[in-house]
Amino acid sequence: MASKKQFVVIGLGRFGGSVCKELVRLGNEVLALDTDEQKVNEFAKYATHAVVADSTDERALISLGIRNFDSVIVAIGDNIQASILTTLLLKEIGVKHVCVKARNTYHHKVLVKIGADRVVHPESDMGRRIAQQMSDENVIDFIELSDEYSIVELIASPKIEGKTLIDLNIRARFGITILAIKKGNDIDISPLPNYQISHKDLLIVIGHNDDIKRFEDQVM
Ligand code: ATP
Repeated sequence: MASKKQFVVIGLGRFGGSVCKELVRLGNEVLALDTDEQKVNEFAKYATHAVVADSTDERALISLGIRNFDSVIVAIGDNIQASILTTLLLKEIGVKHVCVKARNTYHHKVLVKIGADRVVHPESDMGRRIAQQMSDENVIDFIELSDEYSIVELIASPKIEGKTLIDLNIRARFGITILAIKKGNDIDISPLPNYQISHKDLLIVIGHNDDIKRFEDQVM
């Protein structure tokens, strides 16, 4: 289990708000910050602390002790100038890890140049994710590790019902690895070679996207 961390979420719109709630749900400490008092009041019941502050005000950031937090998420959307200035100040103050929501590719480039540790595009990332899942009925979920490699959750088809992992010989034939198999609420990590697959088991595989596709086309 990962140890609990201390986060700051700047901007409590839909994205920042859901990041804040989920971090708290996972047991982390979260300081929620927004210029909008109504938003701050709304999040006071979720976050560990909620404060009204302007993240482009360096003195406000320093007085909140922002440097001591493990990670800061900048979820300011529309005001690109405020997002950039906030990121710059956070890195100048010495925050170790800054994750920023970008509006577009130019915004992304600037954020990387000024030292953002991670830049995310929630709307386009989610759009790609949903399209991937909808275009392939076997794919339940996936995590893109790079442009070429992914972890994919595939639903076992009736074609491989009763087959063992030895029968399928997946690693030798396709160069991909089954990390785990989910059956209902149970999860079998590193399943043994004699594991017998049932229809609707969820296979969590890691590998090159082309190899995963070959496996799906030839086996699933
Ligand atoms: P979402 O799509 O996630 O709902 P958005 O992309 O439309 O949000 P905004 O609504 O523009 O983003 O901003 C998110 C939040 O950031 C707002 O609640 C806004 O008050 C807050 N915010 C904007 N500028 C600052 C700032 N300088 N300091 C702190 N909070 C800020």
